[in-house]
Amino acid sequence: PLNEMKVQFSSRSVNESFARVAVAAFIAQLDPTLDELADVKTAVSEAVTNSIVHGYKNDIGVIYIDVKIYENGRITVAIRDRGCGIEDVRKAMEPMFTTSPGGERAGLGFTVMQSFMDKLRVRSRSGYGTTVIMEK
Ligand code: ATP
Ligand code: MG
Repeated sequence: PLNEMKVQFSSRSVNESFARVAVAAFIAQLDPTLDELADVKTAVSEAVTNSIVHGYKNDIGVIYIDVKIYENGRITVAIRDRGCGIEDVRKAMEPMFTTSPGGERAGLGFTVMQSFMDKLRVRSRSGYGTTVIMEK
């Protein structure tokens, strides 16, 4: 990559906005449109929220973000946790699939990430954690 930024923080919900803003501030050097910036911020929020509520189940762990900027102006954003992991990634990524009881979640986080970014890859191992890598 031409440039790279790494940041790590506690999986507290107050840090969702920090994560969004930190990524946005770093990619601002590419002079993105407001729409592009909003897309990335929304996708980052969804991934970070998933690490907090699903990965760490609201216990406190560490969330790692790695943003890379390439010569061609493309970016990748990787968001990683060492939480519980996902048993069946393909199923988890289906629209409206959620493991949250009580219907307080729509099961649309991955769908949002997919539609707001150009590419989404999810690597996960049960018991070890999850990495979401998004490209734009
Ligand atoms: P919403 O995002 O609409 O509030 P949701 O979080 O359940 O609902 P998705 O973000 O699409 O929906 O995630 C689908 C499912 O994938 C989750 O319900 C959860 O079971 C699993 N999941 C997602 N991210 C993680 C993660 N980081 N660690 C463990 N499980 C995850
Ligand atoms: Mg979600």
